Amino acid sequence: VKTAYTTLANGVKMPWLGLGVYKAEDGTEVEKAIHSALEAGYRSIDTASFYFNEEGVGKAIKESNVPREEIFVTTKVWNDDQGYEETLAAFDKSMSKLGLDVLDLYLVHWPVADKYKETWRALETLYKAGKVRAIGVSNFQVSHLEELMETAEIKPMVNQIEFHPYLTQDKVRAYCRENKIQVEAWRPLTKGDIFTDLTVKQIAEAHGKTPAQVLLRWNIEHQVVTIPKSVTPQRIVENSLIFDFELSVDEIRQLDQLNQDKRYGPDPDTFEL
Ligand code: NAD
Repeated sequence: VKTAYTTLANGVKMPWLGLGVYKAEDGTEVEKAIHSALEAGYRSIDTASFYFNEEGVGKAIKESNVPREEIFVTTKVWNDDQGYEETLAAFDKSMSKLGLDVLDLYLVHWPVADKYKETWRALETLYKAGKVRAIGVSNFQVSHLEELMETAEIKPMVNQIEFHPYLTQDKVRAYCRENKIQVEAWRPLTKGDIFTDLTVKQIAEAHGKTPAQVLLRWNIEHQVVTIPKSVTPQRIVENSLIFDFELSVDEIRQLDQLNQDKRYGPDPDTFEL
């Protein structure tokens, strides 16, 4: 059940659960984390050129016993590389580091003003050439998506955004639902900050689950793909055990009501990275 899938607008299947590897060090650290995750049943890995660990990600995939076609690999074009030609070049660099022929999902990491529409055109080129099975964006608000749609030939299939009970992202999620864009959560665990929230703790106790598992299950209940990060084998397993219980409508509502529009990461409207 860990390999439960959502189907993207173009028919490609994407696992609901993936391993995030931001700040997992290239080399042994990221490789070990991926081996633990694959062993625990994960079939999706979320990296980015900005994480500087694409080589380790590629090596771990190559060395694992899991066939390449069973693993869904995501990477992202970084802000400095945006623009049409620049993005095509950045893609080639990422692919040679990953050592892959075809990528599963390529994302525009942040909506760099004045550039992301040209960046998107490059993603469309890569998609049409069959070099990537799905294309999407990250950190796009409704305004960015609306602007993108004005010129896009192909709609983004995914929008990866910060999402947790303190930042419920109602507007952008509603927009994505209407436009068949799969929402994906980053920082789903708030790096542990809200494990001590009383509501989260009480719901966890009621199910005999951990706060981390409740936060991840809440993503699934909202039909949001989730990519918790850990390099600790025990936590990697813990974070995968979210398909053997359900939250009640009331519990989901209680968690939704914790919203404070609180961001742990940068604001897509004002970010400077
Ligand atoms: P996260 O919410 O997944 O928190 C990860 C941290 O929480 C770990 O480093 C560890 O300290 C702790 N943790 C994990 N599992 C735990 C457990 N079971 N018990 C106790 N503590 C636990 O934060 P994140 O890494 O920022 O987000 C997840 C992934 O999302 C990233 O690795 C990356 O792939 C992606 N991401 C994308 C963007 C973007 O701009 N698109 C931004 C940030 C992160």
